Amino acid sequence: MSRPVRILTLLATAAALLAAACSSSTEDDDDGRLRVVATIAPAGALAQAVAGDVVRLDVLVRAGDDPHEFELKAADARSVARAQVVLRNGLGVDAFLDKALKGSKANVITLTDGLKLRLEDGVASADPHVWHDPRNDIAMVDTIVKALSAADPEHAATFEANGRAYQERLRAVDREVQTIIDTIPAANRKMVTDHEAFGYFADRYGLTVVGSVIPGASTSVEPSAAEIARLMETIRRERVRAIFTESSIDPKIARRVAEETNVKIVDDLHGDSLGAPGSGADTIDGMLLSNARKIAEALR
Ligand SMILES: [Zn+2]
Repeated sequence: MSRPVRILTLLATAAALLAAACSSSTEDDDDGRLRVVATIAPAGALAQAVAGDVVRLDVLVRAGDDPHEFELKAADARSVARAQVVLRNGLGVDAFLDKALKGSKANVITLTDGLKLRLEDGVASADPHVWHDPRNDIAMVDTIVKALSAADPEHAATFEANGRAYQERLRAVDREVQTIIDTIPAANRKMVTDHEAFGYFADRYGLTVVGSVIPGASTSVEPSAAEIARLMETIRRERVRAIFTESSIDPKIARRVAEETNVKIVDDLHGDSLGAPGSGADTIDGMLLSNARKIAEALR
């Protein structure tokens, strides 16, 4: 990071801290709304679609941040302690929540319970990145509607109506994404990704993930030199046209691999996170369409 950028970042951080300190008095005010915490941005976006402003929703890992590297802060622990409902993704991606749950009386809902999960050869735990298949999002919306309605029956009709409307939107987006991916010639439907975040997306729409820069479904592992060499071999052999990395990850190694194998790099997919508010990719439906367009553009 260059020095002026770093100073700007520091200033922005200071301003954010100040804003947080100023708002803490209102944070404590109880306005009677149900207090809900969602652990990661995708779960938060689904909760937002169901709840609107009927509940007070806190999302712990904000858009743009990497959940695999997230550490719980004191303010987050306070949010969890006050919450009546906690919505977590589960499957390890939000294991940071466990520490905050001690003594909590919240109803903790694991959104991936009951979903059909991707299991990989030789890996014990299932792939947590379920939100990249709209059918999973539709099922998770059902789970959220039930959880919020049980905790706040007075607003059950609103949650149900919002949930149904959003499920309809997700079904339309599912069809639209398939139409976009279908514009990619069949031989080109191969992806190399940064970490293994796009398996559900690939399975749903007929793409193949032939390799990833970081081996595994977490970003917190570094590839070895041998693994990088093997990946480059795969890219050349499979004639992969692009490497896809994510907005929440530093694409340093991916960029080197792309340069050496002479393939394109797309460094702003949303894998573990969503786009910034107002970006159009700050919702699950917007994120799916945004990713689909970038993937199709790079592989056509
Ligand atoms: Zn991930």
